[in-house]
Amino acid sequence: MAAPRIEADLAKVGHNAQSLVGRLGARGIRVTGVTKAALGWPALARTLLAAGAHGLGDSRLANVEGLRQAGVEARITLLRSPMIGDAARVVRSADVSCNSEPLVMKALSVAAEEAGVRHGVLLMVELGDLREGVMPDDVERAARLVRDLPGLHLHGLGANLACQSGIGPDARNMAELTHLAGVAEAMSGDRLAVVSGGGSSNLEWALGGADVGRIDDLRLGEGILLGREPLHRTPIDWLHTDAFALVAEVIEAKVKPSLPWGTMGETAFGPAGRPIDRGDRPRAIVALGHQDTDPAGLVPPEGMTVLGASSDHLVLDPGDHQLEVGSEVRFAVGYSALVRAMTSPFVTRVEAAVAPSA
Ligand SMILES: *Cc1c(COP(=O)(O)O)cnc(C)c1O
Repeated sequence: MAAPRIEADLAKVGHNAQSLVGRLGARGIRVTGVTKAALGWPALARTLLAAGAHGLGDSRLANVEGLRQAGVEARITLLRSPMIGDAARVVRSADVSCNSEPLVMKALSVAAEEAGVRHGVLLMVELGDLREGVMPDDVERAARLVRDLPGLHLHGLGANLACQSGIGPDARNMAELTHLAGVAEAMSGDRLAVVSGGGSSNLEWALGGADVGRIDDLRLGEGILLGREPLHRTPIDWLHTDAFALVAEVIEAKVKPSLPWGTMGETAFGPAGRPIDRGDRPRAIVALGHQDTDPAGLVPPEGMTVLGASSDHLVLDPGDHQLEVGSEVRFAVGYSALVRAMTSPFVTRVEAAVAPSA
């Protein structure tokens, strides 16, 4: 089989999604299934919907369009604020988009009127992580703008945490979002369809028994795909953490000295490490590098060590493993390695074979 490749076990992803939908549902929170880490893969989208996600989210317009072309009809939210020049495409493919800028919302309204649709706005609110969102004091004004723009309707309020500054959800900022939902509703005169508290980094908060207030939606990617909450990267013990693996082929396997020799400068990716002298050691190269994945986000099989990586080569100390040229190595992936591999043109994606039943 072609390498490098991402092997995706969609049955495990489905189990994760279903478990999260169930546990969050018991707290009054629904799940928007986020497909961006898998390049808007339609099979993933269908898996999430079958597991009970009440809609889909993706940050890239091209992914949203790809989902539509594949026949996915569920509600899709564009998770990154549209670029003004994309307004016409956005209103044609996405039902809802995250927004924080009047100029963009005006362009969306014009485009929506031309297309004969009403486009939903998920108004993003800044709660302290300092990425996207209007400041809390501006929520009322922004809600009024949306109400007054004929091509738009206020679908809901959203917040994003733990992406820029590492500020996580807590009782205070979540209560503020609940309060602001009331402010926006008083202005628009309609009940908001969605109050979206954040992404997978909200899981600990949402499942921890806190009062969830008006928050009734989370936009989940990493938690579903990798079974971890991103705030502390803790595995969630009732979820699969191995639904995805990255497989690469060994292209050199030799015994070499463990210390380099010659005059030392920097490597292609910065200063070289300082290896310790362990005498002659087996050393293997797999055909995998920064162009394929984030090497820092790979976890090699037990006993193997990643010694370094450049654009195209990943060097391993195989430990007790017998690595021969042509053999394959399976790496577990963290979020950064998964996203980069899924979006690299050099990495293929295959559905892991379902184990034959006995
Ligand atoms: C990517 C993204 C999400 C999903 O984040 P996860 O941590 O993968 O759950 C949610 N909201 C926005 C705005 C995003 O860009």
